[in-house]
Amino acid sequence: AIELKDVTKSFDGNQILKGISGEIDEGQVLAIIGPSGSGKSTLLRAVNQLAGPTSGSVVFEGQDLTKVGKQSLNHLGEKIGMVFQSFNLFPNHTVLENVTLGPRRVKKLSEEQANQEAMHYLKQVGMAEKANAYPESLSGGQKQRVAIARALAMKPKVLFFDEPTSALDPENVGEVLKVIQQLAEEKRTMVIVTHEMNFARQVADKVWLMADGQIVEENDSKTLFTAPKEAITKRFIEQVS
Ligand code: ATP
Ligand code: MG
Repeated sequence: AIELKDVTKSFDGNQILKGISGEIDEGQVLAIIGPSGSGKSTLLRAVNQLAGPTSGSVVFEGQDLTKVGKQSLNHLGEKIGMVFQSFNLFPNHTVLENVTLGPRRVKKLSEEQANQEAMHYLKQVGMAEKANAYPESLSGGQKQRVAIARALAMKPKVLFFDEPTSALDPENVGEVLKVIQQLAEEKRTMVIVTHEMNFARQVADKVWLMADGQIVEENDSKTLFTAPKEAITKRFIEQVS
């Protein structure tokens, strides 16, 4: 679905991504793991053009995103959904409004249509009964499930998750992982940056181990976790699991 070729990203002459090539496959889950500071978030932001690459190409639906104009990029946010560690819900809007704002503004849905679709996604993440609540009254796990419903409501082609459970209390992690697992079973195209190794092993089709701005090892998740080739992969997996 998305093809990366030699993607680099520098900040003030400091190269953070050092030539990333690979494919995000349609209908599959790619997990990106690796030490803090290895460039995982930078890579997601480079791919979805929130902070585009310094060089290299990102081909999505036949278009090199690094070459298209601002106009087309405005629509990219609809096609690549993003779920962050910190939820980023609008505090002054209800759960339902958080989910309907994008579809109403960007997709110009009527209030009725937007509400109907939003309730569908809120049901899917188990948050329908909280539709009229405000984010401050929700647990972290509930907030994150609303954030996932909000991303789904834009009907994206691809979903990116950047450490979706790392800001949660341990007792809230499972409910969010379960929702993501269900999305994987629907064969959605997803990229998940995570420190949850058991989860990555279970849900991912393919794993990239990143270190120091590069993909050090790529493999199907079973092989990567059971028979890692690189010493750095072995060390990383042992450390976090
Ligand atoms: P973590 O697991 O802690 O989230 P990460 O793998 O996501 O780490 P990044 O956030 O991508 O790592 O950061 C990689 C490196 O790039 C870090 O050294 C960071 O300081 C640097 N970096 C990221 N964004 C910027 C920026 N906007 N300006 C300057 N340096 C940046
Ligand atoms: Mg990060």
